[in-house]
Amino acid sequence: MTDRKKIVFGPEAVPGSRVTVLGAARSGLAAAELLKRHGASVFLSESAPAAEKAEAVQRLSAASIPAEFNGHSDRAFEADWMLVSPGIPPQASALKIAAGKGIPVAGELEAASWYCRAPIVAITGSNGKSTVTALTGEILKAAGLPVVVAGNIGRAFSEDAEKASPDGAAVIEVSSFQMETVRTFRPRVAVFLNLTQDHINWHGSFEAYGRAKARIFENQTAEDTLVVFAADAGVTRLAASARSRIARFDLKPSGDPCGFVRSGVLMLRESGADHELVPMDDLGIRGEHNVLNALASALACRALDVSLDPIRRTLRAFRGLPHRLEFVLECGGVAWINDSKGTNVDSVRYALGSVGRPVILIAGGRDKDSDFTVLRDGLKARARAVILIGEAAGKMEKAFAGACPTERAGSLRESVARARSLARPGDAVLLSPACASFDMFRNFEDRGDQFKALVREGADP
Ligand code: ADP
Repeated sequence: MTDRKKIVFGPEAVPGSRVTVLGAARSGLAAAELLKRHGASVFLSESAPAAEKAEAVQRLSAASIPAEFNGHSDRAFEADWMLVSPGIPPQASALKIAAGKGIPVAGELEAASWYCRAPIVAITGSNGKSTVTALTGEILKAAGLPVVVAGNIGRAFSEDAEKASPDGAAVIEVSSFQMETVRTFRPRVAVFLNLTQDHINWHGSFEAYGRAKARIFENQTAEDTLVVFAADAGVTRLAASARSRIARFDLKPSGDPCGFVRSGVLMLRESGADHELVPMDDLGIRGEHNVLNALASALACRALDVSLDPIRRTLRAFRGLPHRLEFVLECGGVAWINDSKGTNVDSVRYALGSVGRPVILIAGGRDKDSDFTVLRDGLKARARAVILIGEAAGKMEKAFAGACPTERAGSLRESVARARSLARPGDAVLLSPACASFDMFRNFEDRGDQFKALVREGADP
């Protein structure tokens, strides 16, 4: 092959460089188009067959970007560097080959950040990313700033990075996979929400997963802010190495600046002064975890000098995203709640604690090497029964034995019917699976939508 050009990552490296983009989903396509516009010679390589990627084929041809489908040929590795889409795990064979050949790899978010003139607020953690990303975006909009909200949530950052105004902000949801390859990524504000067992099957170990997430603040300096959950030992241990200004949140005060709760009111402490935000009961999103999410968003916005008023208004008005503890309906005194995005044990632990009623839990799906026994205490305290579906049902049944009654259902439809007959007035039926959805559904949205449809089907008119 021709000699590989040495790449020092940054926008200067792009013109004239040969880059292979891995992955022809939304982010990969947007990145390929962005890099092409900036003078790179782009090749796109996708493992799925072209027949499944009709839109990609059409977009690539419109942009005159050469591409291959159905696997990665030698051509994919004739590149000065590679750009990896957010959905591609570090163990992907193409990345192993790239590493073997010494081809440097950058993540899509990092490359997009080269073209973003707005300060970046980057949000990571095992749970709460989408909620905090959306809420932070809403607060900044309420403050009158031009805002781009991107990343895992909604649009690809590569699509919007150039549109972000230097007077506004870009709020992006960051997955740990994208942080594996960080070199230059430097958010003005990084939010590290929590670190619990999730995606261990992708990163190899809990340590590797934590280290990947911690790279979100690797390039920050004392001019940048890192917002962390003070009660999360994993997060604070990693944050100890940060050079950033640290802002902490917890239910109790944890330094200065910090976010906390006093007498049922969300508070901020800044330079020794305490400011009231909103009473917990007036928060538009429910549950203790959402109190923490609200404090994290408030601290992130304060780091961008947003005044208290738009923060207060938005904390009251923001009702959360679908599939996260989403109230569906109440029928015969039974509340039905869709928490299809509860795809790991920690989110289910919080969900059980948030409902405030006896729960019939519908759980199960594709296991992510989780230790389901950590749910035993929550189930003992809250659950009247657990109905299990999907591949993980057997493992979960064993993990919950003795903590609460369990039974299996062959489909989501059957689980809803069983829940309907088990539930008594005053109960809640909660879909919060603690597992991925891909064994039975297209994704968590599909699972949640089907659940809501089944619930509505059986409800009294
Ligand atoms: P992510 O984007 O990180 O997956 P979401 O905001 O989509 O996070 O929420 C995912 C799940 O985690 C939902 O079930 C939600 O109720 C729960 N959750 C949200 N915030 C937190 C938090 N701070 N701690 C634990 N669980 C949370």
